[in-house]
Amino acid sequence: MATAIVHHPIYEKHDTGIGHTEAPRRYRAVMGALQDDAELWSSLREITPAKAAQGIVQAAHTPQHFKRVEGAFASGMDRLDADTVISMRSFDAALVAAGGAIAAVDAVMQGEVRNAFVAARPPGHHATGERAMGFCLFNNIAVAARYAQNKYKEVERAVIVDWDVHHGNGTQGIFYSDPSVFFFSMHQYPWYPGTGSRGETGQGKGLGTTLNVPVKAFTKAADQVHAFEAAIEEIASKIKPDIIFISAGFDAHLTDPLGQLQIEDPDFAAMTRVMMQWADDACGGRIVSCLEGGYNLETLGETVKNHVRVLNS
Ligand SMILES: [Zn+2]
Repeated sequence: MATAIVHHPIYEKHDTGIGHTEAPRRYRAVMGALQDDAELWSSLREITPAKAAQGIVQAAHTPQHFKRVEGAFASGMDRLDADTVISMRSFDAALVAAGGAIAAVDAVMQGEVRNAFVAARPPGHHATGERAMGFCLFNNIAVAARYAQNKYKEVERAVIVDWDVHHGNGTQGIFYSDPSVFFFSMHQYPWYPGTGSRGETGQGKGLGTTLNVPVKAFTKAADQVHAFEAAIEEIASKIKPDIIFISAGFDAHLTDPLGQLQIEDPDFAAMTRVMMQWADDACGGRIVSCLEGGYNLETLGETVKNHVRVLNS
């Protein structure tokens, strides 16, 4: 079964202004690299997503947050927090980004494809239930995980693995008390946004279903990959997910301007293989991988291509 590539031209229309790191050109770099590989591209199944409906977004966000994002540009705001610049098309792009993650869930759950990669902008994992933050408007992966649980009765338990160089604070917060969604983040620490220590393990009924593996700046790539494999082994021994999500940030790459970790394309490929093995064992291979960070425009396309090539293998 094939891999889906979920993409939409509006992902390039979320205009963050001149000089912003989370730039529209990221989308072009990713799509260009995938499309340049004729053999890979012809083997992928293209999916054009629609906007996520308000009710579906609000399964992970408060109505107040939805309203604030919806009304922001029209009311003259040009940013939702210090880093999170918005433009005329940003609200629509954010809805189609969440919609992309949802379309990926449908394709995977309905058996049209084995797994899917969503080339979404804006990214999502810093957006909390209540607010936009760190380039993120809606938390695409959290919306998709809730959607999968609400729509498909065979999805009781989901796992979200976040390997972006930054802690996925928004996703963690949304599921912090929820034992039905296990959240694992590996990230540089201490680093933006400041959360993600070992001691953050969930609360209430969700105690023990959050795992943070903080990594020091300049850690050797092999050590980081080893820690990743050990963490997946530990989670897999406790939990059998019905679907697996990857918050696929590629800013942990050696060349990335926003991080100080050292992993490279073969390391991301190795981590992707670990995820596929687990998904094959646990849930018929179902993986939805969503783009989060990754800011080196020279290397991002190639890195994503390698990730997608492994998903499609
Ligand atoms: Zn990041």
